[in-house]
Amino acid sequence: MTAILEVHGVRKAFGGVVANNDVTLSVPEGKIFGLIGPNGSGKTTLFNSIVGYHPIDAGSIRFQGREISKLRVPGIARLGLLRTFQQTRVYSKMTCVQNMIISAPRTHRDWSYMFRRISPTDTRKAEELLKFVGLYAKRHLRAGDLSFGQQKLLEFAMALMSEPKMLLLDEPTAGINPTLINGLMNRLRRANSEFGITLLVIEHNMRVIMNLAEHIYCLAHGQLLADGAPEAIQSDPRVIDAYLGGAHG
Ligand code: ADP
Ligand code: MG
Repeated sequence: MTAILEVHGVRKAFGGVVANNDVTLSVPEGKIFGLIGPNGSGKTTLFNSIVGYHPIDAGSIRFQGREISKLRVPGIARLGLLRTFQQTRVYSKMTCVQNMIISAPRTHRDWSYMFRRISPTDTRKAEELLKFVGLYAKRHLRAGDLSFGQQKLLEFAMALMSEPKMLLLDEPTAGINPTLINGLMNRLRRANSEFGITLLVIEHNMRVIMNLAEHIYCLAHGQLLADGAPEAIQSDPRVIDAYLGGAHG
C-alpha cells in the first residue's frame, strides 16, 4: 500500500505548550483513516501543521512522496490536500452556488470574479456537487439561511470543488443532528469510493468514527498513544484511560 500522507516526528509548540510531540503516522492512498483523542490532545494542531497553516518545529510531512512541511496553505492545496474546519467557514451572505463558485480553483476564480463572468463548467460542477450533498433544492438560498448541518454539507461540497486527492476533516459531524450525521457519513464514504479521495477524519462521535474508519490513530497530550483497527482501539485500555481519566476531559 502506498502512503499518500506520511507524518514523521512532527513537533509543534505554542510557547510552553507542546501541542504535538514526535507524532508519526501515515495514511495509505484511497483509505479512510481516523484521528481521535481527548480535547486539547493536539488533533487540530496536527491538521494545521499538515496543511501548512503554521510552520512545524521539527519533523517531516510528505504528501505523495513530496516534502510539504515548508509549503504554505495555497501551495499544499494546489497539490490536492485540503482540510475543513471544526467551525464552518461558508460565506453566509452568498448563495450556495456562489459559495461553490468561489471555491473553484484559483485560476478560474480570479478571472470569473473580476469580470463577473462565471464559467459554465464551474456552474455545472457546482450544481452537480450540490446535488451530491443533497443541497440542490437550496442552491439559491443564502448559506446563512441553512441549518448548521446543511452549512457543513455545503462546506464539504466546497472542498470537493477543487477535486482534492485528500481531505482532512475536523469533526465533520460536531453539532449536527443524527439524520444529517448519517447523510454526511454516506457522502464521506461515497467521496472516498466514487471520487477516490483519501480521508483523514477527526471525530468525537465514536459511533461515527468506528463505522467510517478502517484504522484509527489516537493522540493524548500531543503524542501518539495508540493506533489500530477500530475494534482494537475501542477496547484499548490506554485509549479508554485517556478519555475517562484524561486531564483535559
Ligand atoms: P484538539 O484539536 O485535540 O482539541 P488542539 O490541537 O486544538 O487540540 O490543541 C492542543 C493544545 O495546543 C491545547 O493545549 C491548545 O490550547 C494549544 N493550542 C492550539 N492552538 C494554539 C495556538 N494557536 N496558540 C496557543 N496554543 C494553542
Ligand atoms: Mg480540535
